[in-house]
Amino acid sequence: MEGPKFQRRIEDFICEHCGAEVSGDGFTNHCPVCLWSKHVDVNPGDRAEPCQGLMEPVAIQPHKDSYRIRFRCQKCGEERWNKSAPQDDFETLLEIARKGADPSG
Ligand SMILES: [Zn+2]
Ligand SMILES: [Zn+2]
Repeated sequence: MEGPKFQRRIEDFICEHCGAEVSGDGFTNHCPVCLWSKHVDVNPGDRAEPCQGLMEPVAIQPHKDSYRIRFRCQKCGEERWNKSAPQDDFETLLEIARKGADPSG
């Protein structure tokens, strides 16, 4: 069985949720302001997902020396974990932690 393939792709984008201008670092595809993401990857970085739905951050979990964020696609309902980035807004992280009460996953 093949593991996920990571591809580094640097791209800037405008957050479709809050309108912030985000400069990509090649790994992050979520907005550091509102932390919403977009359903564009099948494997991280491949941009091969045709869904293109907005992904809502629904839960936060400590992960190694940082956090990971659980995203749920508003369009197809897929959920996945993604690492948080150092530039992510900490207040927003805390807010998601407060409302994300689902202990499963
Ligand atoms: Zn945003
Ligand atoms: Zn989707």
